[in-house]
Amino acid sequence: MSSSSPDERSLVLIKPDAVRRGLVGEILARFERKGLRIDALVTRTMDGDFADQHYAEHVDKPFYPPLKAFMTGGPLVALVLSGDQVIEVVRGMIGSTDGRKAAAGTIRGDFSLSNRENLVHASDSTDSAKREIALWFPELG
Ligand code: ADP
Ligand code: MG
Repeated sequence: MSSSSPDERSLVLIKPDAVRRGLVGEILARFERKGLRIDALVTRTMDGDFADQHYAEHVDKPFYPPLKAFMTGGPLVALVLSGDQVIEVVRGMIGSTDGRKAAAGTIRGDFSLSNRENLVHASDSTDSAKREIALWFPELG
C-alpha cells in the first residue's frame, strides 16, 4: 500500500508590505526550497470589494478597516502552492499572526514586528483553500 496522499493546494498572498520591502524573492525561495510547487502566480492590487470577499470572515471585526486599507494599499503577489499537506505546512512556515510573537525561523517571526503587516496570508483549512482559490484563480477550478 502506498503511503503517499493526494497533494493539496493552498492560496497564499505575499502582502503589500512584503512587496514594498523587497521580500518577495525571499518568501518564494522558502516555499520552493521546502519542495512546494507553484501552480499559479499573479501580481494584483486588490480593490475594496475584492478585499471584502477575500476576508469575508473578518469584515465585521474591529481590525478590519485598517486591514482593508493596508491590503488594498499596493500590489501583492497571489499564488497557489501544492504539495503534501501544504495547508498545514505553509501555516507552520509563516508562523503565528502577530509578528512580534511568531517563532524565529518562520517568515513572520524572522521579518515582521506587526500584528497587521505580517507579510503573508495562507489558507487555514481545506474549505478556505477551496473558497480562496476559486476567488483568486477561477480558471484552476
Ligand atoms: P492569519 O492571517 O494568521 O490567518 P487572521 O485570519 O486572524 O490571521 O487575520 C487576518 C489578518 O488580519 C492577519 O493576518 C492580520 O494581517 C490582520 N489581523 C488579525 N488580527 C489583528 C489584530 N488584532 N490587529 C490588527 N490586525 C490584525
Ligand atoms: Mg486567517
